[in-house]
Amino acid sequence: MRSADDWLALLQEVPDPEIPVLNIVEMGIVRNVDCQENGVLVNITPTYMGCPAMDAIADDIRDKLTPLAQEEGRKLQVDLVYAPAWTTDWLSDGAKAKLEAYGIAPPGKTADKRALNGEAPSVRCPLCKSDRTEMVSLFGSTACKAHYRCHDCSEPFDHFKCI
Ligand SMILES: [Zn+2]
Repeated sequence: MRSADDWLALLQEVPDPEIPVLNIVEMGIVRNVDCQENGVLVNITPTYMGCPAMDAIADDIRDKLTPLAQEEGRKLQVDLVYAPAWTTDWLSDGAKAKLEAYGIAPPGKTADKRALNGEAPSVRCPLCKSDRTEMVSLFGSTACKAHYRCHDCSEPFDHFKCI
């Protein structure tokens, strides 16, 4: 029988559908794994309210873990939990470093929530590390990201909004 840690290790193999360099555990999407005699309960939390990726993530978890749970005679259940709400503080420093290496400017601290309504202050270019950047659009490739351009290397990039 797999332990909760074993299930968590398997969940670390499930990538975030929007940011494939990050897995759903380091994203802070997986809140809890509860192992019972007959079942395995995985609690996940939406990163952004109404983020359409949540259904896809729940399906990915079921696809990967259901056959393994069945081998052990257990039933897999994936539940959404909404409290406490996810914030970008759930991203580990390692996850933020991976984001930047992937070309997405990571979120800052949630102390500054202006990013939700307008321009986030001094977003660093993930490519050349310049602070001379400007927001082009509040919505980038997904609603979770804003679109920026760097004045120094002229490259466009996404900034993962801070919430
Ligand atoms: Zn740049």
